Amino acid sequence: MGAMEQLYQQVILDHAKAPAHKGLQEAFDAEVHHVNPTCGDEVTLRVRLVPGEDGVVIEELSWDGQGCSISQASASVMAQDVSGRSVERAMELSEEFRELMNARGELPAGYEYDEDLGDAEAFVGVSKFPARIKCALLGWMAMKDAVAQASAQGGAR
Ligand code: ZN
Repeated sequence: MGAMEQLYQQVILDHAKAPAHKGLQEAFDAEVHHVNPTCGDEVTLRVRLVPGEDGVVIEELSWDGQGCSISQASASVMAQDVSGRSVERAMELSEEFRELMNARGELPAGYEYDEDLGDAEAFVGVSKFPARIKCALLGWMAMKDAVAQASAQGGAR
C-alpha cells in the first residue's frame, strides 16, 4: 500500500470512529432513511433548510446510521462538506463526489480537486471496488433525497 493510500485509509478510519454531525437533531424539515442492501449499511438523515443570501441553505444536517466504515465515514465527510452551504453548492459537491467514485481508483489527468470536498478525496481508492461505491454514495444519496423532500414541502420559505 502506498503512502497516500495509507493516509486515505487513516482518514476513513478516523471519520468512522468519530463521525461528524452524527446524532439526529430535533429541528428538521425532512427525514429520510436509506439502505444499501448489498452491504447492510443504513443511514437516517435529517435536514433543515433556511433562506440565505445565496439561495436556500442547509442550515442543519444530522444523521445516524450503521454499517461498514466506508459508508459511515463517507456520511460523516458529506455532512461536513454540505452543512451550512447553499443547496446549489451541496448538489454540485454531490455531483463532484459521484465523479470521484467513477475514477476507478485514479483521478483523471488534469483533475482539479475541489477543496470544498474536504476529506472526500480519501475515497478515491474506494472507486476501484465497484461493490463499495454504493457504500460511499449512501450518505450523499440520502442528503440529496432529504433536501429534495424538504424543498418540496416548502421548507425555507
Ligand atoms: Zn458498506
